[in-house]
Amino acid sequence: MMARPWNFSAGPSALPEPVLRQAAAEMLDWRGSGMSVMEMSHRGKHFVEICDQAEADLRDLLGISPDYAVMFMQGGGLGENAIVPMNLIGRRGQPAADFVVTGHWSTRSHKEAGRYGNTHIAASSGTATEIDGREQGPWTWVPPVEAWQVRPEAAYLHFCSNETINGVEFTDWPDTAALGAPDVPLVVDASSHFLSRPMDIARAGLVFAGAQKNAGPAGVTVVIARRDLLGKALPICPSAFDYANVAAEHSRYNTPPTFAIYMAGLVFKWVKEQGGVAGMEAANRAKADLLYGYLDSTSFYRNPVHAAARSRMNVPFVLRDESLNDAFLQGAEAAGLMQLKGHKSVGGMRASIYNAMPLDGVRALVDYLRDFERRHG
Ligand code: PMP
Repeated sequence: MMARPWNFSAGPSALPEPVLRQAAAEMLDWRGSGMSVMEMSHRGKHFVEICDQAEADLRDLLGISPDYAVMFMQGGGLGENAIVPMNLIGRRGQPAADFVVTGHWSTRSHKEAGRYGNTHIAASSGTATEIDGREQGPWTWVPPVEAWQVRPEAAYLHFCSNETINGVEFTDWPDTAALGAPDVPLVVDASSHFLSRPMDIARAGLVFAGAQKNAGPAGVTVVIARRDLLGKALPICPSAFDYANVAAEHSRYNTPPTFAIYMAGLVFKWVKEQGGVAGMEAANRAKADLLYGYLDSTSFYRNPVHAAARSRMNVPFVLRDESLNDAFLQGAEAAGLMQLKGHKSVGGMRASIYNAMPLDGVRALVDYLRDFERRHG
């Protein structure tokens, strides 16, 4: 087999190689069933086993209590931006939800929810500010929790715990009781750092994640929801997207993305073998420290995010001389470093170093950064 290059894509992104190999080995005959997982009935005993095992492994990995439903759904992150409000926004009467806006994805979530009810921005980092005597540009910092202004009557408070494009990550999830809003559950879009570190699910009312970054292939969205919040969907909510239905049928209310769930299940097993989310966190910290450490050691490259808010998963950076961007990307590809181009809304570069990226891949990137700077600096 040809050597696989290092893939820094923001998603869909690299999957652990052992997972791909296992899927390949089981492709035509899943464990003596004589069938590919793709060919199985979603209600047959084999797929039920696959799906229930995936759920059990995920519960184990994150320590999810039985008070929470775990659902494997379709629609991706943007789908959830509508599915969440359709399910939750009217649960306390007048539809109303609050948002902490810290970048591209939470901005999109806020906008979409406005189609279903009244929305309010509890905090935003969309302006420049000064932190520790340094100017921080828009979307490069996290608003301090003490400054969040949450309406006590809101149905929920949404935030994005890792802004994939801006490279901003929340390390702690706040307690809404301390914000004077004890009845307002958190809704967390954890798409791009799911399973990269321990997460206190019990702090949230609902957590969702598109699988295609850290948890599997595109096509399945993981939703973890406190059961007491379900069953109050708006009448317009499609029944296939009503969490109460999906939870009651263990993700098999309608035909779920069976193969994607199987793949996610293989990824969950792999994460367990790496020492679970604590093991992943240690590996991810080492990778992020190496990359940020190098970026900070030179003025040739720059990451604009405030140190305390830097994402361990998505590392945007710019070259001091942007006219070198094309040469940088061409040289990177020639060196086997793929998909480093930044999102069009922020420009520059971005290295996504999800769970499946080994430390060796980040070492190869840092070697290239150093070499490119030596040749062009
Ligand atoms: N939220 C976050 C944090 C994301 O990174 C993305 C995708 N990059 C989305 C939402 C949108 O997800 P999807 O493309 O699956 O709709």
